[in-house]
Amino acid sequence: MPESLTPDLVDLRDRVTALAAEHLVPLRPTAFGEVHGPERAALADAVRRASKAAGVFGLAQPVEFGGIGAGALALTVARDVLGRHDVAHLPGVFGPAPGALADVGEPLRSSHLLPLLAGERQGGFAFTEPEDGGRRTWARAAGDTLVVTGRKSYVTGGADADFLTALVDVEGTGPAMLVIDTAADGVRLVRRFSSLDGSHHAAFEFDEVRVPRTHVLGEPGRGMRQALGVVGGVRLALAGIATGLCGAVVDHVDTHLRTVAARRPELPNERVRLRYGELRILAFAVRSTVYRTARLVDAGGDDTRNEVSAAKVFATEAVGTIVDEAIQLVGGHALEDDHPLAGIHRRVRAMRLAEGATDVLRINVAKGALDLGLGRL
Ligand SMILES: Cc1cc2nc3c(=O)[nH]c(=O)nc-3n(C[C@H](O)[C@H](O)[C@H](O)COP(=O)(O)OP(=O)(O)OC[C@H]3O[C@@H](n4cnc5c(N)ncnc54)[C@H](O)[C@@H]3O)c2cc1C
Repeated sequence: MPESLTPDLVDLRDRVTALAAEHLVPLRPTAFGEVHGPERAALADAVRRASKAAGVFGLAQPVEFGGIGAGALALTVARDVLGRHDVAHLPGVFGPAPGALADVGEPLRSSHLLPLLAGERQGGFAFTEPEDGGRRTWARAAGDTLVVTGRKSYVTGGADADFLTALVDVEGTGPAMLVIDTAADGVRLVRRFSSLDGSHHAAFEFDEVRVPRTHVLGEPGRGMRQALGVVGGVRLALAGIATGLCGAVVDHVDTHLRTVAARRPELPNERVRLRYGELRILAFAVRSTVYRTARLVDAGGDDTRNEVSAAKVFATEAVGTIVDEAIQLVGGHALEDDHPLAGIHRRVRAMRLAEGATDVLRINVAKGALDLGLGRL
């Protein structure tokens, strides 16, 4: 098997496969779009219970908080399997990860991190600025507080967030990650919207919001590095899910071609075989790339940002190509709203922009090689 998994990882793969096939696939909503309100809470609850029983829920949570603290390869195996069953988008499979709060001390540990990990409070990641320009979200010092002014857009889950971890330019020190409570005076949720993949987001305005200095995460001035560290983990997560989705799409095409062949033995003809072969080659290349990258990350020591960016770009672009071509091979039926390929098409389109647009990451990989001497082949 190309992944050469250890017995532990084979066991994990089998457990996640059973979880996905026996519990999550039956829970998967068939209609387009994410479910909301009480229906979403009930879905998340059912998913969470099944995931906990399978020993999967804590994979992405640190050991010191009762989680399993799985490495990059184990998480890739899990996400690959979930993608293969097209259930990676269900809420509640994994417990909340600490994200930018990973290393906080008191008071944030008790007030924000522990309630986040326990599922009692929700956070949003506020990095993206609105596209109409203007000064980036900034803060000035005022005694024990920072006074924040500006706007953020595209905060996933922002409408339900109790707090935001936001990248803010602090006058005199540079970018910093701050925890901003959404109930604080001067924070205004200005817009809620959903994107093609069915996920929901919010845009915020900050008008002289007073944030205690104890809400600064890590060292002031190093906020961009911290924010990108959080994003790096999510990039590999997207690449893992994309790996599984490539397999899911190829499975659909395979079943379709066999069904057609049973009725019309002259099909699939050479043109169809050629295109199907290309889908399999791409899916194989994605698996190979993403699994290798996860192993590099687990090996530690070296900087792997360039490899993670490369894997994210390659896997998300490839799955876009694969599902587009698959729809063409299966035909109009695949475009019906509740067809699995239509759902996957909508979800993977967002992956090429979320957590770093493809061209931005390509430029970063070039910069890594040309200017910083980083990045392997
Ligand atoms: C489903 C989804 C969830 C998201 N969740 C969050 C979230 O929780 N928090 C958050 O803060 N943001 C979130 N985002 C926003 C996401 O991070 C941004 O959309 C993404 O980083 C691209 O930024 P942008 O939309 O401002 O586009 P831009 O940065 O304006 O990029 C648009 C295009 O311009 C070109 N371009 C721009 N800059 C460069 C460059 N330096 N080099 C080369 N080409 C360039 C590229 O072609 C690029 O595709 C989410 C987005 C999606 C789709």
